[in-house]
Amino acid sequence: MQPRDLSDHVAYEAGRGIEEVARELGRDPSDFVKLASNENPHGPSPAAAVAIRETASSVSSYPKAVHADLRSAVADRWEVTDEQVWLANGGDGAIDYLHRATVVPGDTVLVPDPGFAYYGMSSRFHHGGVREYGLEREDDFAQDAETVLEAYDGDRLVFLTSPHNPSGSTIPLADVETLADATDDETLIVVDEAYGEFADRDSAVALIEGRDGFEARDDVAVLRTFSKAYGLAGVRLGYAVVPDEWSDAYARVNTPFAASELACRAGLAAIDDDEHVERTVGTARESRAYMRENVDAHVWESEGNFVLVDVGDGSVVADEMQERGVIVRDCSSFGLPGCIRITCGTDEETERAVATLNDVLATLD
Ligand code: PMP
Repeated sequence: MQPRDLSDHVAYEAGRGIEEVARELGRDPSDFVKLASNENPHGPSPAAAVAIRETASSVSSYPKAVHADLRSAVADRWEVTDEQVWLANGGDGAIDYLHRATVVPGDTVLVPDPGFAYYGMSSRFHHGGVREYGLEREDDFAQDAETVLEAYDGDRLVFLTSPHNPSGSTIPLADVETLADATDDETLIVVDEAYGEFADRDSAVALIEGRDGFEARDDVAVLRTFSKAYGLAGVRLGYAVVPDEWSDAYARVNTPFAASELACRAGLAAIDDDEHVERTVGTARESRAYMRENVDAHVWESEGNFVLVDVGDGSVVADEMQERGVIVRDCSSFGLPGCIRITCGTDEETERAVATLNDVLATLD
């Protein structure tokens, strides 16, 4: 017996941690700083760390079935009903749930190129096809309704990433509305706001709920995560906000105990820790401005907690930087072999990354 034919499936390339890199290079982990996976340089919210410790003694019990208290806290944050919040094992889990709730064999899903790999992976798991719309580097990866509509062909799901990974570009809400109006009734527009806290733009939840001059609608969903601004990537907690009409589907598609009790306790503590989020967002804004001003190469304007840099050869530059103790993301796997992506770090980490990169660029000249 063998697995089914998985030749169309591409494995997710997760960034390697400091321990792994240090072991491979035979070096001390303290030599390294990792700015490769858009993690929070300030760590988790301190309140969440306390909540995780306090939950330790009760993990022999199953989590509460619907995570009612966290669902309510997230619902309050967005002023939606509890049923409109689909908690999941990270934003990735929420992407899976939206596929389970929509895609049947033969359907297609439209995703950005370059873009976050898991959209396409999830579609394939659910026997869907993957189609792409291009975001052009010459246009600074600009996102608008027209670019997506040119590629659209009755796809069941259309993924928008705002801010976009890896470029940091965003899409105006008016364009999301135009897209939702122009696509079929059976198409759901998914606005992935994994990096939403770092951007100046309002959330597309306004479109779902009919706020800020928009009409309420049943064909837009929003993805959010606790991995970035809340610093909880390791506990795996994310969610989708869906239209009211979609509420019933969650119970039918979610995995039993969609999020762990540790994740839920941590999330509940973190969601009230505005100070930690504000500090994190402030650091990211300063870091990306510093990188744009001081890197000796083109740095795209970004609304995320990372910047994309045009370095000529991303693989060579990332390797050289890693040798010098700074781990960044080579963007070859995004189809951008000339680029690296650098996560916004603390002041000290950002300054070290910029000095190291400029050093490497000077030696390659
Ligand atoms: N969307 C985008 C655009 C991402 O970059 C990521 C993480 N890299 C996710 C979703 C999922 O994040 P998580 O599963 O950690 O919530």
